[in-house]
Amino acid sequence: MGSRNTKGKALALKTYETLSFAFPDSICSLETDFPERLAIRGILSAQCTDKRVNITARELFDKFPEMKDIAAQDPETIAEIIKPCGLTKSKTKSVIAFAKKMTDEWAGVVPNDVDLLMEVPGIGRKIANLIVGEIYGTPAVVVDTHCKRVMKRIGITDSADPAKVEKDIMKVFPEEYWIKIGHLSVDLGRKYCTAQSPKCDECPLASFCARRI
Ligand code: SF4
Repeated sequence: MGSRNTKGKALALKTYETLSFAFPDSICSLETDFPERLAIRGILSAQCTDKRVNITARELFDKFPEMKDIAAQDPETIAEIIKPCGLTKSKTKSVIAFAKKMTDEWAGVVPNDVDLLMEVPGIGRKIANLIVGEIYGTPAVVVDTHCKRVMKRIGITDSADPAKVEKDIMKVFPEEYWIKIGHLSVDLGRKYCTAQSPKCDECPLASFCARRI
C-alpha cells in the first residue's frame, strides 16, 4: 500500500513537471474579472465550452452589471440571454439563486466555502471548487470531463467517478498543485489526450503514461 502510494506520488510529480513545461501559460480559460462574475461563468460552464460561456456572460453582464440587477429579473429574461450555453432552465434558476444569495445573504462577498456555495441549486462540487480555487487560491481540485479522462489514462486513478478522482488526485499531488493540475489537465485533454483518438505519439507524457506503456 505504502509503495503504491509512493509510486503514485512519483507519477503525479512527473506528470505535473512535464505538463508545466509543456503548458507554461496554463490558466483558467473562463474570464476571471470579478469574483461573482467568475462564479456565474462557472454555473454556465456545465456541459458547455468556456469560449461560449465567456461570450454569453459578457452579454449578460453588459445588460445586468450588478448581482442585484440579475436577482431582480424574471427567469424568462435571464433564460433568453443564457440559452446559448444550454441546460437553460436549470442554469437560469441557478444564476438567479446565486445572485439573490449574493445580495440577500452574503453581503456581496462570494464565500470562500465549498459547502456554502453548494447551497445554491446547480452549484455542485466542481463549480464550488473552481470558485474557491480561482478567487481565493484555496487548494481545490476541479474534476471536469478532461481531468476525469486524462487522470484515468495516465494511471493516477482507476475511477471515472469525479468524487473518487478528486480524492485520488488529492492523495498524490501536493496541495499547492491542486488548482494548477486542473488547468493542465484541460490543456492536455484538448491538445493531446482527446476523448476520441488521443495523439499519444506526440504527447509529452507518452514515456510514462499507463495507457501508453
Ligand atoms: S500518452 Fe496518450 S493516453 Fe497518455 S496522456 Fe498522452 S495522449 Fe493521453
